[in-house]
Amino acid sequence: MKPVNSNIEYDVAVIGAGAVGLATSYHLASKGMRVILIEKNYAGSGSSTRNAAGFRVHFNSEHNVKFMVEGRRRLVGFGGEMGWNPIIFDSGYLWLLSTEADLQEFKRLNTMWSSLGVGGRFLDTHEVREVIPELNPQGLLGGFYGPQDGTFHHDLILFGYQEKLEGMGVPLLESSPVTGFNVSSRRVRSVLIGSKEIRAERFVVCAGAWSPQVTAMLGVSLPITPERRELGVTEPVKHFIKPFVISLKNRVYFAQGLRGEIRGGVTDMFRKGYHPLVSTLEWTVAYAARLIKTLPTVSNVRLNRQWSGYYEVTPDHSQIMGAHPSWPEGLFVAAGFSGHGMMMSPLAGELMAEYIATGRIPDLMRPYSPERFDENRLIDEAMVF
Ligand SMILES: Cc1cc2nc3c(=O)[nH]c(=O)nc-3n(C[C@H](O)[C@H](O)[C@H](O)COP(=O)(O)OP(=O)(O)OC[C@H]3O[C@@H](n4cnc5c(N)ncnc54)[C@H](O)[C@@H]3O)c2cc1C
Repeated sequence: MKPVNSNIEYDVAVIGAGAVGLATSYHLASKGMRVILIEKNYAGSGSSTRNAAGFRVHFNSEHNVKFMVEGRRRLVGFGGEMGWNPIIFDSGYLWLLSTEADLQEFKRLNTMWSSLGVGGRFLDTHEVREVIPELNPQGLLGGFYGPQDGTFHHDLILFGYQEKLEGMGVPLLESSPVTGFNVSSRRVRSVLIGSKEIRAERFVVCAGAWSPQVTAMLGVSLPITPERRELGVTEPVKHFIKPFVISLKNRVYFAQGLRGEIRGGVTDMFRKGYHPLVSTLEWTVAYAARLIKTLPTVSNVRLNRQWSGYYEVTPDHSQIMGAHPSWPEGLFVAAGFSGHGMMMSPLAGELMAEYIATGRIPDLMRPYSPERFDENRLIDEAMVF
């Protein structure tokens, strides 16, 4: 392939301007590295503007809990560092439990969470209805409340990073899909955007659900599967739901934003593959039925908006961060956050930048190495909703 503009040189080219690519670029540039960020469409056009904007420290895997205990600090500190307030709402998460098995599982998990300093509270049915009196008590055994969890505004995170990058003079190439790479002597030398070539020392693929398509251009297969998920938002109503609620029995989740709108989704309806990002009537009907079953009072509230986006799912529902000895040198990946990448993005970007700048893998990042799939060191993460 003939280079058109081969005199551009960077320390790092980051591919994909979602939350993870923006955060990684910001932290690399903060370390004085010459960074360029390349985006197929526009910044935030992937999953980072299509999510439910929940954050939680309560995961099944101890690694993910530790990651998000630190990740939560980054979210809370974001406004101070970046000058954009992501409006953290410390609302807590409320899991509605309907079976003895679920209750026992949360008790087991809460022992681990407590040992890591983030234990929650069990509520009986009466206490659950003190939190949200409008909840349908039928079949409810109780609830688990995680006070460390909550919601934020994902768009403000993206705007914060974009503004900082602009101020630091980091180029963001939008409408620039990566189409290939040049490799010689087993090292990635440059990235191609059509006929344009950009040379760099290192290349970080942060292309979310599309990351396998990008690494395939280098003959690298990534175990990330796109899953199309849908989300809906109602018209605003007076605030009455404080926590982010997940009903395990009805397989529905919802939260009320500060403007009064109720946003939510169902936990078990998705399509694997790069299906068009459209909204389906099948989903609308299922979501409405399950939401009303859980919270009958919303039966007259209208759905204002519905959309879809991809979860980027790995075999163990946990992200891939790092490089692999079998990959061409200079290739790094931070992707596959499996439906919880928005909350993890500020910390993920910081850790990736530290690794790339120093060559040392930060302890919190170590479990997420791409080698775990060959070595059968999968992360035990089942709490994906
Ligand atoms: C319905 C739904 C609900 C969710 N709820 C939550 C939640 O409550 N909390 C949470 O933390 N997470 C949630 N998530 C997950 C979260 O949105 C993602 O994990 C996160 O946004 C991933 O960020 P990213 O930067 O890795 O990927 P993305 O935001 O998808 O960014 C990848 C970027 O790469 C670009 N790209 C792709 N191919 C190329 C190419 N060839 N060249 C250049 N650029 C390319 C894309 O255009 C895109 O902008 C949810 C996701 C969905 C769909």
